[in-house]
Amino acid sequence: MSSVFLDQLSKRYPSGSTAVDRLSLEIRDQEFLVLVGPSGCGKSTTLRLIAGLEAITDGKILIGDRVVNDVAPKDRDIAMVFQNYALYPHMSVYRNMSFGLTLRFGGGVLARGLRKVFQPRRAAELSAKRAGIDHQVRQAAARLGIEHLLNRKPHQLSGGERQRVALGRAIVRNPAVFLFDEPLSNLDANLRQQMRVELKRLHRQMQTTMVYVTHDQVEALTLGDRVAVMNGGRIQQVGRPLEIYQQPANLFVARFVGNVPMNLRRGAVSLDGQNVLFDDGCLRMRTDLTVSDGADSQANDRIRKRLYMLADSRGKNDATEDAIEFGGEVVVGFRTEDVSIVPAAEGSDYQAIAEVISVDHLGESTLAHLQLQATGDGSLGGKFGQFEHNDRLVLARVMPDQPVAAGDRVGVTVGPQRLTWFDPETGQNLRKE
Ligand code: ADP
Repeated sequence: MSSVFLDQLSKRYPSGSTAVDRLSLEIRDQEFLVLVGPSGCGKSTTLRLIAGLEAITDGKILIGDRVVNDVAPKDRDIAMVFQNYALYPHMSVYRNMSFGLTLRFGGGVLARGLRKVFQPRRAAELSAKRAGIDHQVRQAAARLGIEHLLNRKPHQLSGGERQRVALGRAIVRNPAVFLFDEPLSNLDANLRQQMRVELKRLHRQMQTTMVYVTHDQVEALTLGDRVAVMNGGRIQQVGRPLEIYQQPANLFVARFVGNVPMNLRRGAVSLDGQNVLFDDGCLRMRTDLTVSDGADSQANDRIRKRLYMLADSRGKNDATEDAIEFGGEVVVGFRTEDVSIVPAAEGSDYQAIAEVISVDHLGESTLAHLQLQATGDGSLGGKFGQFEHNDRLVLARVMPDQPVAAGDRVGVTVGPQRLTWFDPETGQNLRKE
């Protein structure tokens, strides 16, 4: 059992590319941490640096309280599981699993026979160790449901079985830290789902620190106690899965995480007492910051201050109900499930009108593609009056029994407590410091 601490870790390849850029991250003891990000963001390199398979350019890695920068991979007390299983094709499953353990005091039948005669005590010791290894291999195999495969060779196994063997080989080593590099990518969707459940169970049983790399954000949210989202060699956000989903730290995370990306709309902002008013020329929203979902009052104060600065950037902030002066711009984000489709009521202040462009029936929910109608009343001085076709699209996820069909004219409202505010220049979530 061990924590892993990455301190200002950098990796530059001789080609000049910076794969990991001053990355700091603490992986807690017994935690299941998932590193997720698009292809090329540096997650595999980070894992390989922890494993010691790549040399560090800058920074420090601690496993437990030991700096391992110069420690050989085999002495780091880690076990790594790869996407391509990396099994020895000529060895049985049993040998593949016991290989790393037997190597240290191996010997064939002849050597064993001679040892029995000339070094009886040593022979007895080794025999006990061998029995211990046998027990470990069989216990790991039982844990993974592969006892019946121990005598087979890798080519006689399915992909899922091979991955179980690779896992088994890691388990028998009883490492302080498990490292997984996209281990489920070669499996079909059903098997992947099943293996995720097994991995979680395994983590619960073994109570060992696990670091898991994937490009699949669904996998990341399903598996991780915490998830670290990476882009361009840097961490964008570390948090619990729900936190990452509901309060992405910046626009990159908002776009990357979620089966369907967050709806993001850029528009003008104003404050009216406790209320924040937003208008992008299609969609108007009004939200009371004091009831903002799940946020503590400090976070709300922070948002208020930042929004105030944005709203004040045109020097007008004494908005009233009937003469709202909008100030600067903000990007507002909301999830598809926070959008409601209601009967269209023309002229209603905080309801947009939209046409349903198409409908995806997903079974457990229905995804409606909506094209908002521009309000075009000039309240924004024309700034947001001109819309490209795509600028008006919003996605809504509704219950499967709600009747929605392409061509419908509908009203659209957004749950006011579920809005996420971003600075349009920096892309940062205004709630975060
Ligand atoms: P990911 O695992 O997120 O897909 P990698 O960590 O494999 O990303 O790669 C990060 C970046 O480093 C990429 O731009 C990749 O091209 C580069 N890179 C990876 N390995 C090497 C290497 N051996 N030599 C040069 N560049 C590399």
